[in-house]
Amino acid sequence: MKKVSIFGATGSIGQNTIDLIARAPDAYDVVALTGASNIAQLAEDAQRLNAQLAVTAHEHLLEDLRDALSGTGVEAAAGPQAINEAAARPADWVMSAIIGAAGLAPGVEALKQGATLALANKESLVCAGQLMLDTAMAHGATMLPVDSEHSAVFQALIGEDISAVERIIITASGGAFRDWPLEKLADATLEQASSHPNWDMGQRITIDSASMFNKAMEVIETREYFRVDPSQIEVLVHPQSMIHALVGFNDGALMAHIGPPDMRHAIGFALHHPNRTHLPVERLDLAKIGSFDFRAPDDIRWPALRLAREVMARGGMAGAVFNAAKEVALDGFIGGKLRFPQMAEIVEDTMEALFPDNGVIDAAITLDNVAQVDHLARQAAWAAITKRAG
Ligand code: NAD
Ligand code: MG
Repeated sequence: MKKVSIFGATGSIGQNTIDLIARAPDAYDVVALTGASNIAQLAEDAQRLNAQLAVTAHEHLLEDLRDALSGTGVEAAAGPQAINEAAARPADWVMSAIIGAAGLAPGVEALKQGATLALANKESLVCAGQLMLDTAMAHGATMLPVDSEHSAVFQALIGEDISAVERIIITASGGAFRDWPLEKLADATLEQASSHPNWDMGQRITIDSASMFNKAMEVIETREYFRVDPSQIEVLVHPQSMIHALVGFNDGALMAHIGPPDMRHAIGFALHHPNRTHLPVERLDLAKIGSFDFRAPDDIRWPALRLAREVMARGGMAGAVFNAAKEVALDGFIGGKLRFPQMAEIVEDTMEALFPDNGVIDAAITLDNVAQVDHLARQAAWAAITKRAG
């Protein structure tokens, strides 16, 4: 039996992971499940999957979790430290699907115990890519991408030599506002930004898809995971979300990965790697689909793409600043303090505040340093929001 833990089990990726695991209960021994506010879901899944341990991120919800689990034999725990401890419990395969920078520390912990880390939490690579790679290397751990684009690139690269790669193209649906007139974006509502044309995902990543901050993060994620030069990474708008990525080789060939917009493919690929196994996803009927559309991305509509290039050019801690500022700007939009296009302005202001005179933050990428920079960037981003509101 494969020992598995799922971090962020109650979220969109977590629930899709549980869907796959629950289909073959005899194949998996569930160690830990973690969540945050949705105690009922966490307790129900922990009991159903017979997990050893369930952890909520919120200390004040410990009693609720204990009550929900009483008599089930599942241990309950709470708080960020308890999540890190859960990540250190021996497991063969760990899903990293917490949202935001909070996913970084447990991912590092899981790599330290040599587990295979299925990485949905792209923030880990954006904030501390080198740390993730170094930790995996030092502990003989494997890190498998669970973003659809990165899983697609990974699959296109099987049996290939990375030195023969000329370019990596990741696709973007364009999100909710792809076809909106630019001048209307300032009036986009939270509800409009929270609905994705193709993918059913958590609210935060859905809004990030509309702003292209999700794609910006994924460009950086590509750079960090595959170690290619930023100039080799391209974004292509592809409204159908069926070609997830393409890898271009030095002989002119392009290998495309095509599949339905269903995260259970990328999750299942990482779960069964290095084998392939039947997965319950739709089989595409290309004749029925008829055609695929493509267009170039637009830096004016989506300034996040330009900011991602700036982050890669700076390197070091710039990713941690970018991510923290983006998380705060997103909170500002969700909380009604910012208009949709102002999210990118806040991120840009924060980068300028933390990197005056085009400087860099010269510090080693450690968990402590990333946490400090994350904190400073959040303060600067809130200050930028307050300044705009006042
Ligand atoms: P979600 O919001 O649906 O779920 C997030 C999970 O994290 C929940 O279990 C929640 O309880 C937990 N959580 C929230 N705040 C926490 C905190 N401070 N500490 C600990 N746990 C916390 O998010 P999602 O859409 O499932 O995305 C999860 C991750 O996967 C993100 O990094 C996202 O970018 C990435 N991802 C998601 C998709 C998708 O289809 N949803 C696709 C690719 C990558
Ligand atoms: Mg993606």
